Amino acid sequence: MKCYVCAKQGKTTEAVGICIVCGMGLCMEHVIREEREIWEGGYPFPAQKMKKTLPRILCRDCAEATSEG
Ligand SMILES: [Zn+2]
Ligand SMILES: [Zn+2]
Repeated sequence: MKCYVCAKQGKTTEAVGICIVCGMGLCMEHVIREEREIWEGGYPFPAQKMKKTLPRILCRDCAEATSEG
């Protein structure tokens, strides 16, 4: 899979991760890896609070859309 953001810019960069929200491929430059404790509804996962923080791979758009501030 190629990075979707790079592909839009006419580049072909191999993706290193996939946004868990929208599913687009992301290269190291565009991947956003976050650890959040609170899990809200609306994700493709059960809405519940986890005991540990879990790393999540997000694209920039989804990171902004789901940021808590
Ligand atoms: Zn990229
Ligand atoms: Zn996304």
